[in-house]
Amino acid sequence: MTAVSAQALPQADPSELLRVRGLTTRFHLHKKAVTAVDGISFDLKRGEVVAIVGESGCGKSITAFSIMGLLSPPGRVDSGEILFEGRNLAKLSREEMRDIQGNRISMIFQEPLTSLNPLLTIGFQLDEPIRAHLKLGKAAARERSLEMLRKVGMPRPEAVHASYPHELSGGMRQRVMIAMALSCNPSLLIADEPTTALDVTIQAQILELMKDLRNELQMTIVLITHDLGVVAEMADRVIVMYGGQIVEQGDTFSLFRNPSHPYTQGLLNSTPNIHELKDKLEPIKGTVPPLTNMPHGCRFHPRCPHAFEKCVSAAPGWVDLHDDHQMRCWLPEKKERSLHEHG
Ligand code: SF4
Repeated sequence: MTAVSAQALPQADPSELLRVRGLTTRFHLHKKAVTAVDGISFDLKRGEVVAIVGESGCGKSITAFSIMGLLSPPGRVDSGEILFEGRNLAKLSREEMRDIQGNRISMIFQEPLTSLNPLLTIGFQLDEPIRAHLKLGKAAARERSLEMLRKVGMPRPEAVHASYPHELSGGMRQRVMIAMALSCNPSLLIADEPTTALDVTIQAQILELMKDLRNELQMTIVLITHDLGVVAEMADRVIVMYGGQIVEQGDTFSLFRNPSHPYTQGLLNSTPNIHELKDKLEPIKGTVPPLTNMPHGCRFHPRCPHAFEKCVSAAPGWVDLHDDHQMRCWLPEKKERSLHEHG
């Protein structure tokens, strides 16, 4: 995964699974269009875990919904490309997209109870997509469902198969969702805050399970989270979003060791760190701007402790920091200018 400018289109790479270029998603409201995701570009490689982080309202989930084709009016992808296994998902019909959803690309959500139908057994909800996507008969689909329940470490899979969602605990329901998401061998799994609603012990088990399955099945996982502890635990690479744009991206080690964008620094300073005892956490001042009123220039400038004049008037471009670690901020240019001026 690399965040790149929309103009620079590298050659197709066999290890690449998804290529997003200039993705712009808007909500077309009564009198005006509101931009939720603003021209973002990144690549995902096969088998890697990429975390998308940022506060609520920064565009993480809308990015995932855009890729999955799950936006409903008034939201829609207005421009850009989502190239997945050679096809531009942004141009597919609803029917073509339905064939890919739950099959080649799967998604798991924060609260499995709202994603599962309370009136249908777990078995029915697991078997049906398997029958539809893998074209299996009833008995073979049931066998596959039971196999997936075993794979996600579910005790007594036959009993779970016959249960209704309300008869299971939160951790078990999330395991069912993972079993469901993996049942058709997707090459891309998008997990939107998959452990937020779970207690800490179950959270650790689910993360461990996702890591094992990723290693076993060589899946690419996009992990959407505001929990930087989960990111450090799981992700190979990190994309930081703010105001519908990507502001920093890089491999997890480099980004945690050398967070460079003031927003990323703010996120890390406001997160408890078990490796480093901090006297006090420092929340980022202010709040995420509403989509209807994005600041000009750098969108983070009203909250940034380092903002200067240029930040207010012009949007920064990408700056390379290290191999595969970039950010959008004027500070490096300012520093260079100052060094130049002072000899
Ligand atoms: Fe802060 Fe300016 Fe950098 Fe934006 S461009 S993050 S306002 S220093």
